[in-house]
Amino acid sequence: MNLEIVTIGDELLLGFTIDTNAAQLARELAALGVRIVRRTTCGDDAESIRQAVSDALGRTGAVITTGGLGPTADDMTKPAIAAIFGKGMRLDTGILTALRERWRKRFGHDLPVSNEQQAMVPEGCTILPNRHGSAPGIWLEDAQGRWVIMLPGVPREMRGMLADTVVPTLRDRLPVGGPVIRSRTLRTANIAESALADRLGELARGVNGLSLAYLPGADGVDLRLTSWDRDARATAAALDEAAALVRSKVSRYVYGENDDDLAAIMLAECAARNATVAVAESCTGGMLGMRLTAVPGSSRTVLGGTIAYANAVKARELGVPAALIDEQGAVSEPVARAMATGVRLRFGSTIGLGITGIAGPDGGTPEKPVGTVWVAVDLDGDVHAVRAVLPGDRHEIRWRAAQLALDRLRKAFLREQQSEGWTARG
Ligand code: ATP
Ligand code: MG
Repeated sequence: MNLEIVTIGDELLLGFTIDTNAAQLARELAALGVRIVRRTTCGDDAESIRQAVSDALGRTGAVITTGGLGPTADDMTKPAIAAIFGKGMRLDTGILTALRERWRKRFGHDLPVSNEQQAMVPEGCTILPNRHGSAPGIWLEDAQGRWVIMLPGVPREMRGMLADTVVPTLRDRLPVGGPVIRSRTLRTANIAESALADRLGELARGVNGLSLAYLPGADGVDLRLTSWDRDARATAAALDEAAALVRSKVSRYVYGENDDDLAAIMLAECAARNATVAVAESCTGGMLGMRLTAVPGSSRTVLGGTIAYANAVKARELGVPAALIDEQGAVSEPVARAMATGVRLRFGSTIGLGITGIAGPDGGTPEKPVGTVWVAVDLDGDVHAVRAVLPGDRHEIRWRAAQLALDRLRKAFLREQQSEGWTARG
């Protein structure tokens, strides 16, 4: 099934609101087997809405809109689309009663007159209940089977209605065994796109007819496999097989799949080892601690940390020798090591992580350009350090530095596992 999305709102055109609804719809519907062939955004006026939706209907016969269902004068979606179908508007007493009750219960007073407009619906439509807000969705279909679904603009309500009614309804309408579009993402850290492609060799352009996209970001490069034309069962098998093939070439760099977060994965690894963690952060200013403590259940593993920004604080709070900082500079391997060990000993944790670097935009030198970062991991006395020159602006460099520290910990665990394997075999 081909479908078009029309998102409605002046705020989208002005760029103040980012169109997350269209992205969300595309992701969920592709997985069902609905192909989004075009997305349009238009302003809050009736003529633009009428034109955009009627053009889209002419091309595909299937359209989903979001926005403009609310109670205010700029909410024109319903009458504008009703006009395309040659329908007038009627007052729905069921919606009106529900709205009145909702207002009395939630706000303790009568429904404002302007909200009564929310009970106006196109003649002949199906009303899609909204458990997540006040404006219901609308489904309009004509005798030829061409249809438009109107959903609210508020992303939380839109998502809720998508799951409650839109996805189940479309699933019923789609042919059984039809093609679906699904993706699987392998998340890598600390390796460049080109190096990944080299390692993948002949898989670099695609695997068994699945496309392979390289998506670089501050977390690392995501490798996204997409299957376009198989039925649901064959898709799952093809994705499993392709993911295993890709992993076999680059497993050392893959830390997770899809929405996995390296901080959460490393905390789980620490918990499995009964290890506790403390962090010593200079240029990241607490970002690593923020990422670790954002993970639910982190209190079992994370003891705390020190933001050691000034050299004096590195010396006083972490015991980094002042002479070391003077001789080697604050951004150096021995200082990163001393930070990791210092925080581990002072907090009494199993693992200490240290980060020191130059986030810029100022402060770089030819030997230590902006983006130079040293991270160190102290695993119960066994210290690993690594240097990188990270690209990006100040925010990206800081984010990448925290990710680098987490990835260094991952590699230290990997090495530990491998050497344990050695001992076991020997
Ligand atoms: P309401 O009943 O709450 O008025 P509505 O259907 O009229 O809902 P809008 O008024 O168009 O929706 O938008 C409500 C909120 O949702 C606004 O804050 C808007 O910025 C946000 N929003 C609208 N469209 C989108 C979109 N495509 N992506 C993300 N946010 C959106
Ligand atoms: Mg609006």
